[in-house]
Amino acid sequence: MIDNADQLFARLEEKNIRLDAGKKETIARVDEKYRLRISDHYFALIDWDDEDCPIYRQCIPDGKELEKHKGYSEDPLNEGQYEKVPFLIHKYHSRAAFMCSNFCYMHCRHCTRKNTVMNNSIADRDSLPPALDYVREHTEINDILITGGDPLALPYDLLEYYIAGFRSIPTVNTIRIGTRAIVTEPSSITDELCDMLERYHPVWVFTQFNHPKEVTKEAAEACDRLLKRGIPLGNQSVFLKGINDDPDTLEKLYTDLIGIRVRPYYLYICDRVDGTAHFYADYHVAVDVVEKLRYRLPGYAVPKLIIDADGDNGGKVTIEKNHMLRETEKYLVLPGNTEDSTTKYYI
Ligand code: SF4
Repeated sequence: MIDNADQLFARLEEKNIRLDAGKKETIARVDEKYRLRISDHYFALIDWDDEDCPIYRQCIPDGKELEKHKGYSEDPLNEGQYEKVPFLIHKYHSRAAFMCSNFCYMHCRHCTRKNTVMNNSIADRDSLPPALDYVREHTEINDILITGGDPLALPYDLLEYYIAGFRSIPTVNTIRIGTRAIVTEPSSITDELCDMLERYHPVWVFTQFNHPKEVTKEAAEACDRLLKRGIPLGNQSVFLKGINDDPDTLEKLYTDLIGIRVRPYYLYICDRVDGTAHFYADYHVAVDVVEKLRYRLPGYAVPKLIIDADGDNGGKVTIEKNHMLRETEKYLVLPGNTEDSTTKYYI
């Protein structure tokens, strides 16, 4: 694992890869604010001859991360407001998220939580009982998302302690795990880990492939290990400018994913998080791209296009071409955090 700018420069020297002094200085400067981390697996995928390599752009710091932009903030989703007890977010009626770790195998430069994830903190064992008490009292919660950070980067015994805790609550039906380890460190998806997850069914795993170059043999094998234990796999891509904001790249990505039995589930528009503005691709572009995918791909290979339209009022909402008002070119969205069908608005 490469864990800071100096380690990156040393690794490049070993491989006889030259970066100009200006670029090195920028990487070191950004690393001070948004710490660099790259897994060995992901590092090996970088094409150093391609200036626009989609792997490079997702893992190597860019000077644009230090720019300030209007409308951007550290926590545009206002998640802190929904943290009912430490580490437990309850925003949507029947679902709660346990944010158990701020550790990841890689620091993705576009990460929505880049202002917290890069501090490496981990919820300790004492943080579980209050979260369990809250879920027991709120019997409407039937789905627990264990996320972070990357829960699959936790020590197995700690992860199992969390999963077993939530599984012991009769009103909890499904346990979902959000992880990018399949993509960034597939060797971490060991048989031992998969055997443990299988003991707590129904367990679902959602991951984040953003580009076909990430669908490697190692990642496919990691998926296969999970699938063999009966764990369904879904993918939540992020629509990233210059990386996958075109129909050809996403057609290839989703074709490859259904080929390894990973269902494309969501395609997210980037949230307005400080340090990520250069990845933002407009949702009007995304709507057109998804329309093309509908024509080119089987229905189950086309993800829902999702935007966090208005953190407090709407939460995550789906946008579709046929919800656009022709006169204004605005989209009708139906908020995901209320069942009141009269609550609708336009973006
Ligand atoms: S693995 Fe996920 S949480 Fe971790 S840095 Fe990447 S996008 Fe963020």
